[in-house]
Amino acid sequence: MTADDRNAGPAGPQVDVVVVGAGFAGLYLLHRLRAEGFSVRVFEAASDVGGTWFWNRYPGARCDIPTTDYTFSFDPELEREWTWSEKYATQPEILRYLQFVADRYDLRRDITFDTRVEGADWDDVAGLWVVRTSTGETVSCRHYVMATGCLSVPKAPDIEGAPRFAGEVYFTSRWPHEGVDLTGKRVAVVGTGSSGIQSIPLIAQQAAQLTVFQRTPNFSIPAHNGPAPADRLAQLAADRDAYRTAAKWSRGGVPAEVTDVLGVTAPEEVRRERFEAAWEAGELFAILGVFADQGVNPASNEIVAEMVREKIRSIVDDPETAEALCPKDHYFGTKRPCLDSGYHATFNMPHVRLVDLRKTPITTITETGIDTATESNEFDVIVYATGFDAMTGALVGVDVTGRDGVTLKEKWADGPSTYLGLTTVGFPNFCALTGPGSPSVLSNMAVSIEQHVDWVTDCLVDLRAKGMTTIEPTPPAEDGWNQHVADCAAISLHPTANSWYMGANVPGKPRVFYPYIGGVDNYRAACDEVRATDYLGFRLSGPGGEQCHDGVVRRLQPDVALVLDAMAQMGLPPLESMSPPEARAFMEMSNGMRPPGPDVGEVVDGVLPGPAGELEYRLFRPASPGPHPVVLYFHGGGWVLGDQLSDEPLCRDLCVRTDAVVVSVDYRHAPETRYPAAAEDAWAALQWVGAHAIELGGIPDHLVVAGWSAGGNLVAVVTQRARNEGGPVVRGQLLLTPVTDSTMDTGSFEENADGYVLTAPLMRWFWDHYCDPERRTESTAAPLRGELGGLPPAIVVTAEFDPLRDEGIAYAEALRAADVPVEHVAARGHTHMSLTMVDVVLSGARVREEIALRLRALFRQPAEV
Ligand code: FAD
Ligand code: NAP
Repeated sequence: MTADDRNAGPAGPQVDVVVVGAGFAGLYLLHRLRAEGFSVRVFEAASDVGGTWFWNRYPGARCDIPTTDYTFSFDPELEREWTWSEKYATQPEILRYLQFVADRYDLRRDITFDTRVEGADWDDVAGLWVVRTSTGETVSCRHYVMATGCLSVPKAPDIEGAPRFAGEVYFTSRWPHEGVDLTGKRVAVVGTGSSGIQSIPLIAQQAAQLTVFQRTPNFSIPAHNGPAPADRLAQLAADRDAYRTAAKWSRGGVPAEVTDVLGVTAPEEVRRERFEAAWEAGELFAILGVFADQGVNPASNEIVAEMVREKIRSIVDDPETAEALCPKDHYFGTKRPCLDSGYHATFNMPHVRLVDLRKTPITTITETGIDTATESNEFDVIVYATGFDAMTGALVGVDVTGRDGVTLKEKWADGPSTYLGLTTVGFPNFCALTGPGSPSVLSNMAVSIEQHVDWVTDCLVDLRAKGMTTIEPTPPAEDGWNQHVADCAAISLHPTANSWYMGANVPGKPRVFYPYIGGVDNYRAACDEVRATDYLGFRLSGPGGEQCHDGVVRRLQPDVALVLDAMAQMGLPPLESMSPPEARAFMEMSNGMRPPGPDVGEVVDGVLPGPAGELEYRLFRPASPGPHPVVLYFHGGGWVLGDQLSDEPLCRDLCVRTDAVVVSVDYRHAPETRYPAAAEDAWAALQWVGAHAIELGGIPDHLVVAGWSAGGNLVAVVTQRARNEGGPVVRGQLLLTPVTDSTMDTGSFEENADGYVLTAPLMRWFWDHYCDPERRTESTAAPLRGELGGLPPAIVVTAEFDPLRDEGIAYAEALRAADVPVEHVAARGHTHMSLTMVDVVLSGARVREEIALRLRALFRQPAEV
């Protein structure tokens, strides 16, 4: 569109909203928008409603979420009028349902069928979209919504010679409406994802000969199909609203038990019992939730994976075929597991054969069949069950041109970028329902679709009420959301698989994790929050004026947020409301419940001489042959709490990651012994460890002093003293979220005064117990006030949501100003506690690895003696 065209653009839109697609999403959106008084046109490439369920008519096609849940819930009347016949309804029944919905709400009159939307151009002057269709029609609209589906564009055949085959060719995703008679035919099926696995048992019933070409075996569990599950029906009958609400606030969009049983620590009989129950349930979210940690912990995941493999071996008669059907190249659940009806047993039929393409790849498709590296096979029919260009295929398949002539395809060339998985910068008044960056394909899509439709409709209603005509996300909001989506994925095992979730199935497609894995519940909360904060992260404009509440909706690491939520729900009393002995007892009790940290080579307890008696230490030795560098470690706890054991998981982690001996030393605590007792003990420990490094298994002059929180304060204090007193030689100092000053008036103190475990009142409590106010400015209490020149290289770690953040940053800056080499590691999205919560705050592992990398580099540098 030229500038002139733009200037001459239509005065107003022909309709308020154009919607593309008439599947679950388009139908419900039309219904809601119309009810709110918006004018709507829907375009649909198919000749009827149904979307997925219009196109995917292959034998055996069914849903894999129980139909009690994979259904609209927006209207109780509709629910009363429709009864699903089975636990997992077949494609014809789901299609009939969607047709019933279209009729019931008289939706067809606003849908134009057999019409593809080919392009949509944003007219920035008129503030509207101009939509072009395959029939030559052009429609202008204020808002353009793509309800085009995540799995609606079949992947193009990418096998050498495919067009040459002269026999019958079918795609599961475009199965002929009149059906296909395979009786007596020699049939090849290429692909063993959900579509292949559902169709193969039925194709085998008809075909004279069936050959399945499998590139990657998939995890599949029996659906145990039958009547709709009695327990779910009973819950729905008892309280439909409560059930639907539970679905909306569940992780996957289906009410499900959330377990805290860890695969790695559960006894064998518990593991087995939980797995068998999930296997019998025949439900995706049951098998994906056998253990709380199976999605994040490889060892736990392997327990489930191996139990599934055992089942496959027990079903399939031929051991070689069974082994070929056992998935081993990806973690369970990182590709969507399949639900089947007799899939594995199908391979026991004499006329069914599996070709393992990992062993004998397809070399070419010929006029008459398929050649592999070792044989030629002749077929009458080839069925491709080869999947979809998922999540983005349908979106970038349309020529969507936003502001400044940039197309969506261009903007997303390196991967999708969205705010809330719905909107994207540069494309005002544009929404992609169940878009990348939303839970979509990881969830019960019916629930996710309803949530998106409701959010979009509510948003348009809000805009109208405010007199606003355009809405567009801001770059910081979008960047923040992309970061959050990536942070969620990074904790899970999902990105390790070559799955369509990662774009890995389509050659050349950007490899990122496309959906949002943080959960339907958390996602809904984020969307609700954006609306409740008057469209945080969006710029709104129109006759009603302009507004922009810029910001990022989720800044905490997702697992940190979960931990904080869990703690908030426990309603624990604040530590500072307790006496020190009570607080210590409480800490000890909570420490007893945490994961122990990784295995190390050896753990040795000992004592060293302190100024007022012996100081206990615990030494962690790596499993590798020594000698090793030595890390002298001081625990946190505000000089009041803790001992040489209290940061044990962190010490173990440090030992394993750095391959160093870690010596965690206790020191005297306040209020029993106040300042400077702790600093005096830490100094004694440094001298002793420095002098006994070789006996401890250390390499001479490879000593680093490390500490967390108050321990970080002691690190700074003793390294300054070692410099003053000419030894011991300290190669480096690691200050983890340290206390460096006593003012307690920094920006971070105010911003993070409450809600992130270490609170401002707690920090004041610590200081009050430790040190008299008039002595808090001494450099052995507030090392930021000390002389910093000539100190050993430092690694200073600060956490974003920590009252101590700014004093940590100040210390790093002051060291740098004093020409001390400093590396500052800023733990984005983390709190004061994050790094110590080994195997709980999993995202902390990345930060600890970054620290370890720097420490290892420090150990490799020649010592400055
Ligand atoms: P779709 O149903 O895909 O509808 C999109 C429509 O947009 C299509 O009809 C398409 O023709 C149309 N369209 C696309 N581009 C254009 C264009 N440019 N112009 C005009 N029209 C266009 N999810 C679950 O949660 N549970 C399940 O059990 C489940 N089973 C599935 C089984 C199969 C075989 C497949 C393929 C997917 C399954 N899914 C399942 C995912 C399923 O896609 C969604 O549940 C849901 O049906 C998607 O609805 P939708 O309206 O968003 O998209
Ligand atoms: P898919 O999961 O992507 O599976 C495609 C299969 O084809 C894979 O086995 C793939 O092997 C194989 N393949 C692709 N290209 C190939 C090639 N060139 N040579 C050999 N093999 C090739 O697709 P899908 O089965 O259609 O399922 C997609 C998604 O739709 C599902 O994950 C699910 O979300 C949804 N779905 C659900 C149901 C249900 O049960 N309700 C049914 C169907 C679909 P590789 O793995 O090696 O790439």
